[in-house]
Amino acid sequence: MKASAYFSETYAQARAQFVAAAQEAGGQMGSYAHPTAKGPDGEPLFMDTAWFGPDDAESVLLNTCGAHGAEGFGGSAAQLAWIRENGPKTLPAGVAVLLVHAVNPFGFAWTLRGTENNVDLNRNFLDHRVPHPENELYDEIHTILCPARLDKAAIDKMLKGGANFVARHGQWALEDAISRGQYTHPDGYHFGGTEPEWSNLTLRLIIKRHLGQARRVGFIDWHSGPAGNGELIHLCFSNPKGPEFARAARWWGDDALDPKTVEAMWGSRRPSRRGIMFWGVESELLGRARVTGAVIEFRSARPKTSAADALRVSMLERWLRFEGGLDAPEAAAYQEEIREDYAPRRAAWQENVIENALTCYEQTLLGMANWGREDLRAAD
Ligand SMILES: [Zn+2]
Repeated sequence: MKASAYFSETYAQARAQFVAAAQEAGGQMGSYAHPTAKGPDGEPLFMDTAWFGPDDAESVLLNTCGAHGAEGFGGSAAQLAWIRENGPKTLPAGVAVLLVHAVNPFGFAWTLRGTENNVDLNRNFLDHRVPHPENELYDEIHTILCPARLDKAAIDKMLKGGANFVARHGQWALEDAISRGQYTHPDGYHFGGTEPEWSNLTLRLIIKRHLGQARRVGFIDWHSGPAGNGELIHLCFSNPKGPEFARAARWWGDDALDPKTVEAMWGSRRPSRRGIMFWGVESELLGRARVTGAVIEFRSARPKTSAADALRVSMLERWLRFEGGLDAPEAAAYQEEIREDYAPRRAAWQENVIENALTCYEQTLLGMANWGREDLRAAD
């Protein structure tokens, strides 16, 4: 099938395609309606699950998409392609797959990255009962980065403020302050929230319901973003010296997980992060199952040529949420710009995403089959 057939124009269409294909392929379905949030046409929003393979499988590949909302167009297409291209029929013995579609359906439906509360879900999976990590440099830059208007004068002023900050703290400190996560400004960038989001609680519930018997969990969390053309970036958040990282490297290649490769693909030194979903999944399974996996990005954006360009998509999202409103006259054009960054419509990108995703599923499931056999041998 042509790659473009797997890509949807809207969240509602992506969901309908996922549910129909998974049902047809014999998946056991689950559906979790968002209690309050709605899509742009007033439509209800769901996190959907499809289970393939034996109920009692001890080896399960957990595969999520849409934790960052609109980044889900690529991940949803990858899931659909795996279902349609006979993935369920060719599962290795003893291995099951749990697909979770649209972890953040609000962001997916509105072409935004954050949740209904402007929360970056990949900063929300930490213990909210203890004081949140500080990010003093973010506090310093917040006002500068949040202009009420997006005209040239306002952007120039912001860039000037940014340049002053860089002169004091350095370029990487700016990038890190913005993107590492902050817990003090709900209307700011990469806000991690002050309590678990619905998406966080629901994903944990899904893990409790489906992975109680699992001993070996593979995890692929599809994302998209950094500049490129559908190439994969493997962001493994396991201890780099531990056995899970080593296993991931056996599945996907030493080179793919090498920090040098990852940073070159990413385009800069990666920020430090807190509260990512990967660790949430690990903590939910702690003491019961080992987790080997990664956040995997489809490179998608056009190359950025300036600091304003690099921040633009996040700035548009913030402006839509807190300044202009999602019903502003500019909204459709801004949402289209955001979408082109996360899920461009160019054929080459879509083809590369599908090809690379299918290869990745194959590598991962082969790795999971081997993992089960290794455990059996070890138990002998
Ligand atoms: Zn992402």
